[in-house]
Amino acid sequence: MAFDSSTAITAIAIIALVSGGFLIVSGRQFRAAPTAAIWGLANLFLALGLPLLLGDARYEIGFLCVMIHGALAWEALARFGGRHVPPLVLIVGTVIWIVLAVVPETLLPYGVKEAAYLATTGGFLLGASLELWRGRAERLSSRWPLAGLLIIDAVASVGAAIAVIPLKGSPDVPPGGWLWIVYLIVMVFLVGTAMFLVSLIKERAIREQETLAATDALTGLPNRGSFMREAAKELAAATAAGTPVAVALFDLDRFKSINDTHGHRFGDLVLKRFAETGRRSLRAADVFARIGGEEFAALLPGASAELAVAMVSRVRLQFADGGVAADGTTVRTTVSCGLAIVEPSASAPSIDAVLSRADGALYAAKAAGRNRVSLAGDAATRASPIVRIA
Ligand code: GH3
Ligand code: MG
Ligand code: MG
Repeated sequence: MAFDSSTAITAIAIIALVSGGFLIVSGRQFRAAPTAAIWGLANLFLALGLPLLLGDARYEIGFLCVMIHGALAWEALARFGGRHVPPLVLIVGTVIWIVLAVVPETLLPYGVKEAAYLATTGGFLLGASLELWRGRAERLSSRWPLAGLLIIDAVASVGAAIAVIPLKGSPDVPPGGWLWIVYLIVMVFLVGTAMFLVSLIKERAIREQETLAATDALTGLPNRGSFMREAAKELAAATAAGTPVAVALFDLDRFKSINDTHGHRFGDLVLKRFAETGRRSLRAADVFARIGGEEFAALLPGASAELAVAMVSRVRLQFADGGVAADGTTVRTTVSCGLAIVEPSASAPSIDAVLSRADGALYAAKAAGRNRVSLAGDAATRASPIVRIA
């Protein structure tokens, strides 16, 4: 099958135009993230530049557009990682283009100029793939196919430079000539990168939405729904492992009167302070969440009654110690806590059942005078910093 180069280049330009339009339209869904729109623009530059390579008149401008395509693809992924293409790279790219555009044809053997333009473009595409590597801590599965396509196309750019050298004056590509491989790679690159780029942006957007939906906006702690899901998982895991689990319910004392006296904004500060106290005091493996207005819950995997009482007592004491500044004075705040222990058994109890036991203990702590810890099934509530286990 014999094609001429100009047919292939025209086909690539059309694919670049369509994929560029697709990315710009897709970019409108993600206004906060300009990545898709910038890459769309990159493809439009390619669509504009490629036809110019077919004639002699605007040959250099054609390559300028191809290089801009590479630089914009890099910028698109740099923005995805919250960065920009280093200005020095752009300056070097511009200098390379100007020098090659003004050097007389006679001074350069045919192909050197093309090779330099395409190698620079390939360098930009490698820079773009480097941005994906730099952001690898954020696990997004579309990252790697996109990086792979960029590397393959960067190599193909240099390959094209080499392949184009013997074709001077002959737009017909001999059958079996490997420039066809380059054309094919560029077509796959344009379609594949558009798909994986949109997939990459959507992956991040979905993950952000999921995090937002599971987080309490005021304190940044997991919310009730998230706590229930995580706690159910932990209960099942503890049953399988035959280890105990403790569930604590915290309720700030006389919080309504704090709001009434000092205002709702001050109440919010108190809530944040309690969240911070719990976060600092509990372990990384514990699930700590805001499950209601001034109600918090903690699930402590592997905690026996003794350890759990010691841990929640520390939270209670640290919260009572200090306070929140208001109108030149410091307002002291306290919390009550109800604790339920789930001993290892054959089947995991429901989280609702455990919470209701903890709630009963919390009620007892409030009734006994507040600012204390009460253990479900234990007659004594614990106001003393030194915990006694019955
Ligand atoms: P108790 O010691 O018995 O727990 O008394 P309390 O005043 O803490 O309990 P109550 O349930 O009567 O009051 C809870 C208050 O929490 C009422 C509500 O206005 C307040 N609240 C709930 N959510 C928020 C919030 O997001 N911010 C602020 N500032 N207040 C909140
Ligand atoms: Mg309450
Ligand atoms: Mg309360």
